[in-house]
Amino acid sequence: MYQHHYDDGRLIDLPVGKVVCVGRNYLEHIQELNNEVPEQPLLFIKPNTALCDVQQPIAIPKDKGSCHNELEIAILIGKQLTDCDDDTAKRSIHGVGLGLDLTLREVQDALKAKGQPWERAKGFDASCPISPFVPIDKIAIERIIEFSLSVNNKVRQQGNSANMMHKISSLIVDISKNFTLLPGDIVLTGTPKGVGPLMDGDELSLVLKGHLSIKTKVT
Ligand code: ZN
Repeated sequence: MYQHHYDDGRLIDLPVGKVVCVGRNYLEHIQELNNEVPEQPLLFIKPNTALCDVQQPIAIPKDKGSCHNELEIAILIGKQLTDCDDDTAKRSIHGVGLGLDLTLREVQDALKAKGQPWERAKGFDASCPISPFVPIDKIAIERIIEFSLSVNNKVRQQGNSANMMHKISSLIVDISKNFTLLPGDIVLTGTPKGVGPLMDGDELSLVLKGHLSIKTKVT
């Protein structure tokens, strides 16, 4: 069973909750998939059964078309938040890590075409491999956070929090006006450009600059 951990391996004493995800938060990713720029953050939820440890081999679904990487900054929520303000949002963050919003792209395209929800494409078991979390006293969300994903030693995604259309605290504020966030919930803050299919045997390297460097693979 998945549980939250710190970057030094210690267990985090928070339950494992839902994952609230933000779609289309980086302009260049919106353009690569020919999507419209949303007026407000596009939100969807992965259930807690989607969570798994990214440091373990990542099992992707077979026979459901391509499964794309979307590497995103992951925020671990430490306090209950309902309709909160920006200051409270910032003070509620327990840790920062990286998450993969694994996406069955053809399944999602078919759902989008019919105007149906995306859960079949994004909410399946182990669709959210997650890294250990850097405690919030060691990482400043006001500063630029850089992160990257390499696949078989080639850089595929390079993200920079400065390029987010909605910054981290305003995402938490907006989410809290729609869904109560509970301690142990995670917010995934959107993917930069560079999404693409993962293959059996791919070797992945996930970096949260200055904080985390994780090697894992796809099975
Ligand atoms: Zn995503």
